[in-house]
Amino acid sequence: MQFIEGGCLCSGIRFRIAGEPIYSSICHCATCRRASAAPTVAWLTFDRGQVEMLSGSPLSYRSSQGVVRRFCGTCGTQLSYESMDSPSTIDITTASMDNPNLFPPTLEVWLEHRVSWQSANQTRSQYPRSTQ
Ligand SMILES: [Zn+2]
Ligand SMILES: [Zn+2]
Repeated sequence: MQFIEGGCLCSGIRFRIAGEPIYSSICHCATCRRASAAPTVAWLTFDRGQVEMLSGSPLSYRSSQGVVRRFCGTCGTQLSYESMDSPSTIDITTASMDNPNLFPPTLEVWLEHRVSWQSANQTRSQYPRSTQ
């Protein structure tokens, strides 16, 4: 079993993940954009059982109906997304991984919300909204 690790900028929060992601995606949605103050957010989707916290306790808030986002309360790094619509999975920000190159994104979602100057990569599968 392969393990990958990641954490926040201040290193107060560290986590470890067993195995490979189910999806690697880029989200253009307006909520991710505001939550991270970035034009897009790259996500790795895992089964919740794959993810183990090693240190620290993220803060959380409800960013939309049935959705909880977690982040470091000290440095502000955005860490995870959990939706009641998908109770067995958790999305972890690709850019919080120690090696963000391991699982390149294969799809882009919520292109309906794309910022006009942020180009989409046409080599990836494109979805106007979510994949569901
Ligand atoms: Zn931190
Ligand atoms: Zn999003």
